[in-house]
Amino acid sequence: MRQNMSVLIHRDRIANRVRELAMEIGSAYNGQAVVVIGILGGAFVFMADLVRQADFVSQVDFLWLESYEGQKSTGKIKVRQEANVDMQGKDILILDDILDTGLTLGFTREYVLNQGAKSVRAAVLLKKDRENVDPALAENVGFTIPDKFVIGYGLDYNGKYRHLPDICVMEPEKENL
Ligand code: 5GP
Ligand code: MG
Repeated sequence: MRQNMSVLIHRDRIANRVRELAMEIGSAYNGQAVVVIGILGGAFVFMADLVRQADFVSQVDFLWLESYEGQKSTGKIKVRQEANVDMQGKDILILDDILDTGLTLGFTREYVLNQGAKSVRAAVLLKKDRENVDPALAENVGFTIPDKFVIGYGLDYNGKYRHLPDICVMEPEKENL
């Protein structure tokens, strides 16, 4: 681990909470199977762990969005790859790594409804503790964390560190590699 990183949430705590989330979401859907859309790149690890413990999955697909450069949101969303699945009349569960400003989930919820989805729900592993973010954007939240830049368990810094098993805080502007 580099000097400018420290563990915020250990892999064991993540595993326990993901298991609980799978049950919480499952009971919200009450035995019904839904289409799961993961937002790439950050959601891939969370999604892989969650769907393998879930009893509510009919199909899995991905929407690849980009909004970050380094440690900052650009405030704009670029669609790198659209989802393929037919959402018409379907119940859709969106999965993302983290809810920060809400731009990504706001965009994705609208995207899914524009594709004709019957219902939309969103679950995130992390939510930053900050003001002026609509809590209705994510129905299920794993952990609320301080408003700091985090990496690991799917979350990157300029494409790096997604593979780290723990969620770590990265200190601002100390990366030189
Ligand atoms: P929002 O659109 O809610 O501001 O941010 C959501 C997206 O921004 C997430 O899907 C994630 O890709 C990225 N993001 C937000 N906060 C962080 C962070 O602390 N670390 C990393 N690596 N990505 C973040
Ligand atoms: Mg993301």
